[in-house]
Amino acid sequence: MGGDLGQAVGGRARHQVTTPDLRRQLADLIKTEHPFVYCWRCLAAKLRVSEARIRDTAQMVVFGQRQDFELARRECAACGASDQLLVYTKPGA
Ligand SMILES: [Zn+2]
Repeated sequence: MGGDLGQAVGGRARHQVTTPDLRRQLADLIKTEHPFVYCWRCLAAKLRVSEARIRDTAQMVVFGQRQDFELARRECAACGASDQLLVYTKPGA
């Protein structure tokens, strides 16, 4: 029996650029770290995904939760890079 390796791997995680799970992780991280803001590269390192995925996911987060998040020019708290970054805007503040 057996012999069909290959089948087990790679069925699902093929074209997942952003997942609801990653969206929540990113949103939670941004909220937790507030008022500190991190650049895409540092966020990617924290969440162990590619920078491109973080950027895409950030777009989704802003789009889905416009009253809580926005893209604004900030400095990364870790490496000091200045960029248009994902920022948590406290609701009602
Ligand atoms: Zn950084």
